[in-house]
Amino acid sequence: MPAFDFTSFVVLPVGVAVALLLGLWVYYDRRDRSFYDRTRCRTTYHCLKCNRVYTAQPQAGPVPCPNCRHPNPQLHF
Ligand SMILES: [Zn+2]
Repeated sequence: MPAFDFTSFVVLPVGVAVALLLGLWVYYDRRDRSFYDRTRCRTTYHCLKCNRVYTAQPQAGPVPCPNCRHPNPQLHF
């Protein structure tokens, strides 16, 4: 029976640490990507009634203002 088993003392802890870091990397990468996709895919609207500028998910028709519910078309620059 060997006094120092290389596999159990070095390879297994390093393998577990690398697997843990890869798991955390994949988790945070997916989380950040979904967050930026949600914020990037928004369109700016300007309310003609209360003069408020707001963002919302792009839609085919007018989007109601969150303040006064007046439907407003998408801003074009
Ligand atoms: Zn408004």
